[in-house]
Amino acid sequence: MKSIYSKMLVLAFMASSLYSYAWGLTGHRIIAEIAENHLSGKAKREIRKMMGRERLAYWANWPDFIKSDTTGVWKETSVWHYVNIDPQTDFKVFEEKLKAQAGPSLYTQIKTLSSQIKDEKTSEKDRKIALIFLIHMMGDLSQPLHVGRAEDLGGNKINVTYFGDKSNLHSVWDGKLVDSQKYSYTEYAKLLDIKSDEEVKQIQTGNLEDWLYDSHKIANRIYAQTPNDSKLSYDYQYKFNDTMERQLLYGGLRLAKLLNDLF
Ligand SMILES: [Zn+2]
Repeated sequence: MKSIYSKMLVLAFMASSLYSYAWGLTGHRIIAEIAENHLSGKAKREIRKMMGRERLAYWANWPDFIKSDTTGVWKETSVWHYVNIDPQTDFKVFEEKLKAQAGPSLYTQIKTLSSQIKDEKTSEKDRKIALIFLIHMMGDLSQPLHVGRAEDLGGNKINVTYFGDKSNLHSVWDGKLVDSQKYSYTEYAKLLDIKSDEEVKQIQTGNLEDWLYDSHKIANRIYAQTPNDSKLSYDYQYKFNDTMERQLLYGGLRLAKLLNDLF
């Protein structure tokens, strides 16, 4: 991982709208921006030492950009963006199934990267890479279809139209719903980040498993209400806008909690 670190800046600009990325550019930046507003003083200082003066939002999409890297160095990270699971309606069963899964996933890697950051033996460069991935992956976690079903690749194989254009369910939730609102990421972060300290605390309770289950339950609701060949437009936005905005806010606040606990 270390040797290609120098490519990071170049790759950071290689965004492509051709691919179906979690939350799209704006969603990930909103989450990072909200998180940045809720960092403790200590976390802020430590993160600045690691990242320099760039805001979290600057790096929020980098783990998606490197999917376009052709050297194969980052190939192993492609499965870090999601965890697929059969529909569950009971937390205990969900948790058991989650823990029984073999191989790296969004779930295992958030834990692995967190311990890498805590480990003093980890090099500065690898700590920075781990942090950038965490910023991104806590966003993925809050996109419900990243805790969706394997059979349809988290909604990628559910065909829909969105205002007449061919699309799929995953892609609608990645970017289209967010982008339909036509706010910049800073505007949107500001509009959503209005909870009281008490409410913020409440949203930040729970652990990684709880947060994944939270997304999974919403994914089940999305699946139930968006069958294959659905024609989505204003009524779908109307139905799910609150949910989409809740997920952006919760993603940001929970990312902040994770980082505050780490540092
Ligand atoms: Zn992702």
